[in-house]
This record gives sequence, C-alpha cells and structure tokens, in this order.
Amino acid sequence: MAAELISGTEIARALRAEIRERVAALKARGLVPGLATVLVGRNPASEVYVRMKGKAAEEAGIYLRRIALPEDTPEEELLGLVAGLNADPRIHGILVQLPLPAQLRERVALEAVDPDKDVDGFHPLNVGRLAAGDPDVLAPCTPTGVIEMLLRAGYDPAGRHVVVVGRSNIVGRPMALLLLRKGRGGDATVTVAHSRTRDLAAVTRLAEILIVAAGRPEFIRANMVKPGAVVIDVGVNRVEDPGSEKGYRLVGDVAFAEVREVASAISPVPGGVGPMTIAMLLQHTVVAAERLWSASASSLEEPTRAAARA
Ligand code: NDP
Repeated sequence: MAAELISGTEIARALRAEIRERVAALKARGLVPGLATVLVGRNPASEVYVRMKGKAAEEAGIYLRRIALPEDTPEEELLGLVAGLNADPRIHGILVQLPLPAQLRERVALEAVDPDKDVDGFHPLNVGRLAAGDPDVLAPCTPTGVIEMLLRAGYDPAGRHVVVVGRSNIVGRPMALLLLRKGRGGDATVTVAHSRTRDLAAVTRLAEILIVAAGRPEFIRANMVKPGAVVIDVGVNRVEDPGSEKGYRLVGDVAFAEVREVASAISPVPGGVGPMTIAMLLQHTVVAAERLWSASASSLEEPTRAAARA
C-alpha cells in the first residue's frame, strides 16, 4: 500500500497562518517583527530563495528589508552593513544568504551577526548552545522545519530510532542534535550516516524514521528502507528533463515512487521540507522579536526599579 504523504506545503500553510496571527497580535501591542535579508552577488538559486523568503515574510506581516549588494562587495562593507543591522531596533532577524562570493569569508560574516538576531542559527554561539542541548536556541531552519513537520504529521521522534543521512552544518549535524535534545521534538535514538559509512543500506534499514540530506538524486532505494518507516527527504536536486519546459526537474534524495511502496509515510520533493524551512525562518524572526522586545523592556524598567530602591 502506498505510504501516507506528509505534505510540507500544507503543514507550512497552517504554520504560516498561525505566525500571521501572532504577528498581528504583536503589532496591536506596538511590536512589528523585522527581518533583513542580505544577498551578495547574482547567484540565481540564491536570488530565488531570498525572493521566496522575503515574500513569505511580507505575507506574514513582518517588516522586510531586502538588501542586495554587488558581487565585488569588500568584506569590511558587508561587516559594516551587518553591524548596522545589529544595532537597528526595527530589525530582529538577519539572514545572510549563502554561498557568498569568494572574497567574503562565510565564517566571518556569520560570526558578525548578533546571535540574538541569528534567525538562521549559524552563529557559533548558537551552534554551541544547540550542541549543549539548549531548548530555546535559534537552530537552523531546515532541521527545525523537519522536526515541526514530524510533530504536526503525528510522528513524534521521541523514543524512536532515527537515522540521519548527511552531516553538513546546515542540515545533517543540527538535525541530529535537535533529535537528541531532551523534550519537544527530541528524545530520539539517533544514528548519523555519511559518505564514509560502511554498508549504508544496513544502517538506513534500522530507521523507524529516516531523514535524508545527502544531495544525491534518488539514491535512497526501496531496499534501503525498513517496511513501515517514516521517510523525510530533505534533498533538492536538479536532474535533466528534456521533456519539461525548463529542461530540468527537481527530485529529492529518495527514489520517491518505489520508496512510497515500502514506507508508511513520506515527504515529497518539491512540497516537503522546502516550505517548512521558509515557515521556520518566519517563526524564528517572531521569536527573536519577542525576546529582544522583552529584553529591552526590562532594561528600560531597570532605572525605574533602581530609583524605587534608592
Ligand atoms: P552537503 O553536500 O553539505 O552534505 C551532504 C552530506 O551527505 C555530507 O555529510 C555527505 O557526507 C553525505 N553524503 C554524500 N553522499 C553520500 C553517500 N553516497 N552516502 C552517505 N552519505 C553521503 O549538503 P547539504 O546538507 O547542504 O544539503 C543536502 C541536501 O539537502 C541537498 O540536496 C540540498 O539541496 C538540500 N537542502 C534542502 C533544503 C530545503 O530547504 N529543502 C535546505 C538545505 C539543503 P560527507 O560529510 O562524508 O561528505
């Protein structure tokens, strides 16, 4: 029997509606969450991602500042811009779109972002907090989107054996750390596989939940999946398709048609993890805004309390 489809599009739609309501309620109290997107150069895929993220933010009622810099932007200029955004009270989330042109060091750019405005969760302080199991950290959007998707589809990872294929800093590694965390969305037994894993199929077949982020088109085949497993496909790969209008189509890392016959539930590509990633960016912006706002309110109250104590 074909597996249930876990529609990221539908789950993200519901989540975005909730975020829109939350933003409206904050606005009524005088707080407008603000997001800045920083795009350097003309990478076509990055342009598409930034446009989609910006559109989603505006639809949610978030104040959006789109910043596009030329390909040859010097590092000091980018760092100066980020410093300005860090200090800007209208901006609560800063997203520096990766990859950056060669003259810009990604590590330096990511470290320049105020950790409290780091809605992508790439600042080393937030990476460390996640590794330490901090339940409140802003973690990368794609793996947090996968967790939210599993929970909302009714597949709580708690107590289950989850195999993650991939160990990148953007997806696989933070995915494993989120699953290991105590509490909501965590408490899983986690195995991480990668390109040096021996007999990958034997490992993936152990998974009750299999999460694949390897960037290899359709490489997880039916014989690599335990019957009844839940499969989340993070991969987005372009494969040539002369029959299609664009000359290519998007496929995941999972051979969808055949794995669907073995799994009990599966997320599609497109329409799976991608929309969840965007929804989580919006959610992180709102969370960052709420936290920064309450922090500034309490620092304003401090002199009053001090005066009362005097
Ligand atoms: P990376 O290329 O950075 O990492 C891929 C990981 O997969 C590496 O850890 C690599 O192992 C592992 N891997 C590669 N080949 C194999 C193999 N044959 N067997 C086992 N493991 C393997 O990719 P990302 O993590 O950035 O992205 C993964 C996929 O997810 C891509 O398709 C990307 O487009 C997609 N993606 C989707 C997003 C979304 O929003 N939907 C967001 C981000 C990414 P090793 O470390 O040993 O090299």
